[in-house]
Amino acid sequence: MLHATDPHAGLRTAVVDWFAASARDLPWRAANRTPWGVLVSEVMLQQTPVVRVEPRWRAWMDRWPEPADLAAASTADVLRAWDRLGYPRRALRLQECARAVVKRHGGGVPDDEAALLALPGVGTYTAAAVLAFAFGHRSVVVDTNVRRVLARAVTGTALPPPSPRAAELALAAAVAPRDPAASARWAAASMELGAVVCTARAPRCDACPVLHLCAWQAAGAPADEHRGRRRTQAWAGTDRQVRGTVMAALRGSPGPVPRASVAALWPDAAQLSRCVAGLVEDGLVEQEGAAYRLPG
Ligand code: SF4
Repeated sequence: MLHATDPHAGLRTAVVDWFAASARDLPWRAANRTPWGVLVSEVMLQQTPVVRVEPRWRAWMDRWPEPADLAAASTADVLRAWDRLGYPRRALRLQECARAVVKRHGGGVPDDEAALLALPGVGTYTAAAVLAFAFGHRSVVVDTNVRRVLARAVTGTALPPPSPRAAELALAAAVAPRDPAASARWAAASMELGAVVCTARAPRCDACPVLHLCAWQAAGAPADEHRGRRRTQAWAGTDRQVRGTVMAALRGSPGPVPRASVAALWPDAAQLSRCVAGLVEDGLVEQEGAAYRLPG
């Protein structure tokens, strides 16, 4: 009866049942997880895969289990602990977030969307994920994995558009169950399916619990209509690589690194100079006389 009125019930049931049997055992999903641990995991996972995040997350939470611990840490230690997770501005925002949680909320992560969104580094996705995964509230969690699963299984396209559209968000809201606990399970399960089965480049359709329901497969797996408009994530020779090289040198040094040593890190002096200036502007690096060091 439910299936007759809810076109997405079969999809949800299949994905949630699959998740119950196959979910990866990740520490931020454990029964003893804390809201702060969930928030930290979501920030780390924004642009970094689980396999690289998990050991960093464990070390991070051992060292700074509560927001107050991270708030009191030196920024240099925070950036060293961030290690090679990439996009280190996230580490600075996470420490600012910890300080705001201490100042505004007495050290406890708020379970309120507006209060979460007001925290540094917390956007729509992270707020929704924390509400669902830390507090069990109903919230529509839409990340790249969920977008891809819905695009394929429901809409029948190879990949979602390069940027989220209103119709996608409306579909995600329509598919999410009304019940808070069921909604949180669906969010976790659909993200997991996108991360490990319905992957961007090589979906494992033969192992997919919703193959029999998948609109994209039913349509004969048509090609990606947005293919020419997608940005590729190049690395070699980019400013990101230069910034990463400089940050790695500073993280690995117990004290300031002389400007001459920094100059030797990269052959293109103009590119290096631009990147170092960007790191200083972002608050990731400080200049001290004729040397550079991590802040604070
Ligand atoms: S059948 Fe393939 S494309 Fe469809 S949802 Fe499953 S993994 Fe994705």
